[in-house]
Amino acid sequence: MTIDTLQTMLKRQREAFDDDIYPSFAIRRDRLDRIGRLLKENQTALCEVVSRDFGHRSHHETTQLEIAPLMGALRHARSHLRRWMKPERRGRSIEFLQLSNWVQYQPLGVVGIMVPWNYPLLLALGPLIDILAAGNRAMIKPSELLPESSALIARLIGDYFKPEEVAVAEGGVEIAAAFSALPFDHLIFTGSTAVGRKVMASAAAHLTPLTLELGGKSPAIVAPDYPVGEAARDIAFGKLMNAGQTCIAPDYVLVERGKLEAFAAAFIAQAEAFYPRQAAQKHYSNLVGERAYRRLLSGVEECRARGVKLVTADIAMSAKGLNIAPTLVVDPPADCLLMEEEIFGPVLPLVPYDDFDAALKFIRVRPRPLALYIFTHNGVTERKALLNTVSGNVTVNGTLLHIAQNDLPFGGIGPSGIGAYHGHEGFKRFSHARGIAKVRILNPARLAMPPYGRVAEFLARFMIRG
Ligand code: NAD
Repeated sequence: MTIDTLQTMLKRQREAFDDDIYPSFAIRRDRLDRIGRLLKENQTALCEVVSRDFGHRSHHETTQLEIAPLMGALRHARSHLRRWMKPERRGRSIEFLQLSNWVQYQPLGVVGIMVPWNYPLLLALGPLIDILAAGNRAMIKPSELLPESSALIARLIGDYFKPEEVAVAEGGVEIAAAFSALPFDHLIFTGSTAVGRKVMASAAAHLTPLTLELGGKSPAIVAPDYPVGEAARDIAFGKLMNAGQTCIAPDYVLVERGKLEAFAAAFIAQAEAFYPRQAAQKHYSNLVGERAYRRLLSGVEECRARGVKLVTADIAMSAKGLNIAPTLVVDPPADCLLMEEEIFGPVLPLVPYDDFDAALKFIRVRPRPLALYIFTHNGVTERKALLNTVSGNVTVNGTLLHIAQNDLPFGGIGPSGIGAYHGHEGFKRFSHARGIAKVRILNPARLAMPPYGRVAEFLARFMIRG
């Protein structure tokens, strides 16, 4: 792949788009059906190739966390698409009663999708569902860190789609940088906040509209009324899936000071129950990338050197590749790497609080996270936590669940992202909401035209009423 090939790919897609700028419902639905067939007919091959690229990744995780939510999103889009495509009637004020107003959702054109390595199927094909539902063409840049998965995705997309419908651009960081500088009609980037900044700078040259799905430190907070054992189970599930390499994994947990020990014991017991020693290792995934692995180890070592208590689960792990056992870091200092950067691995700081309001403030004064997890059965506490924090999405009394709700927008805020997609919001994200005003019989502007007489004056007075 060269920069010239990228440009040719885009030109070809744009020409095809210009020949059909408003694909029918039937065409869009057929494109969605082809994504479904691609996934179903190649499920095993996809799970295997992702596992090879990870060194080891549980097939259950690839199925549950990537293929299943994609199939759910497809079912949702298929059943709502006809309604989403309908023009939306809008109101008008009294002086414009002679008008009819409506919004028509138009396809944007060619949309670029930049994909991180941690969920290579979900984060390539998830945006693709919304993009094709909205009637666009798409170019996908998979992550260079998963070469076999990227090659299989490219081959399968080539088998199920014409290159002018959906194309895949494989390549390293130089190709990724060139991709982000192409004059797309929209670009969706999922990845780190640091690379997101670079992508935004490249997109600025063409004023390419952007959706940024970034990362950050997503907190979990366990309210005083909530049983810590229950919270520990759900937090361990959300944290240890994909070995913590999930953008919305709980990054750290705020627990009442007196319950820290109980929470730690429950979390470790739960981790050991999820991935028992006596079982042949199949379910605990590896870490991807030497650099990320070393960064995580150095974060843990820094805490150890500073005298922070560490608790590690004794679980079954794959013998090959890079992995770290689930590790709790109890009450780390605020200025350590693990409390300053997104962790993105199976290491979980426990941060004690003495007062629930102060714990909410702890979240509020930090950069706005992608996700927030609140554990409480008390309605007043839930409302207080929701109204006194800001984050991308929230799951109450569980982890990760909000991402699989097809009727909820998904996205970050501030440093964790710009713009949300999924379901109806995804359809709208990749459409142009074109407002249309139509004069029915009498154009009211004729009453306000020069030379200005008494009618124009009356109209002006009427229009500037309070
Ligand atoms: P990354 O930012 O390193 O890479 C993402 C993409 O950027 C890749 O396709 C890569 O090819 C490309 N890229 C790398 N350097 C580039 C450059 N200089 N210019 C343009 N593009 C470049 O992210 P990653 O390590 O693959 O993924 C992990 C990060 O992604 C974490 O921070 C995680 O929180 C975030 N993430 C966010 C979401 C979400 O939905 N918000 C989902 C998954 C991951």
